[in-house]
Amino acid sequence: MGYASVKWEKFPRFVRYANDRETFKEKTPSTLTLRKAMEFARSHIPDSMGHSGDPAEVWEQLGAHQPEFCGYLHAIAQGYDLRHVMHEITTHCKRVQTTSLWSDTPQPRSVQQYPEPRYYEMALTPHDLLTSLYWELREFLRAGGATRLMECAACQQYFVQVIARLTRFCSQPCRLKANPTRKANNTEYQRRHRQATRERLIKDDLRLIEAAKKQLTVALGTMPPRSTILEKLGMSTRRWNTLWRWEVQKYGHPQVTNLS
Ligand SMILES: [Zn+2]
Repeated sequence: MGYASVKWEKFPRFVRYANDRETFKEKTPSTLTLRKAMEFARSHIPDSMGHSGDPAEVWEQLGAHQPEFCGYLHAIAQGYDLRHVMHEITTHCKRVQTTSLWSDTPQPRSVQQYPEPRYYEMALTPHDLLTSLYWELREFLRAGGATRLMECAACQQYFVQVIARLTRFCSQPCRLKANPTRKANNTEYQRRHRQATRERLIKDDLRLIEAAKKQLTVALGTMPPRSTILEKLGMSTRRWNTLWRWEVQKYGHPQVTNLS
């Protein structure tokens, strides 16, 4: 696993196992939960022989061990007692049995160096189901994952920080849940800001109308008609109507827009 080329997965299998709050909760497992347990148990160790197990036993063993496994992830995420955690992980990873066997699987031509069938030494068999999960965790730590393992501040589930920016939450919903007023406050602020801007523009226009009314009244010797005021200001009838409605709503009757 090249250090620079690590592609981080947000919820790798060992994290999904630790986060699972459904599969191991029931008193007696269903077909579905047994299948889920077998998925966690399936070995991901390269060159692994795999192992078959009774699904009910697999389910029971994984369920019984889950709290301990979560404890290790918690310690890694919080960054304490790492020596003890590494010792436990190493102990589990030692339980991989190397099996020697004859293999007649054709070798790729590029690496062919032994006569067929060849003596094959690298078949690894996890001693128990947990080994494969610990192996995956160890590889994660070896790739530099320790500082990326996070515990969501809202839902407490584990996740891997896949981007460089530090995040305390596993998802956007969790981020919002942790601060529910933030979104609401922002919406309310936007609404108030729009309202204030609109009111300021209306007051500006009313001041312009008032000044135009005074000037035209002096020039014409009488109250000018609406069309003359609008023409002088380059204002639309529609805008006038908006201002008129605003005044009626605010004062109960038109003031500046009253031409009688
Ligand atoms: Zn969360």
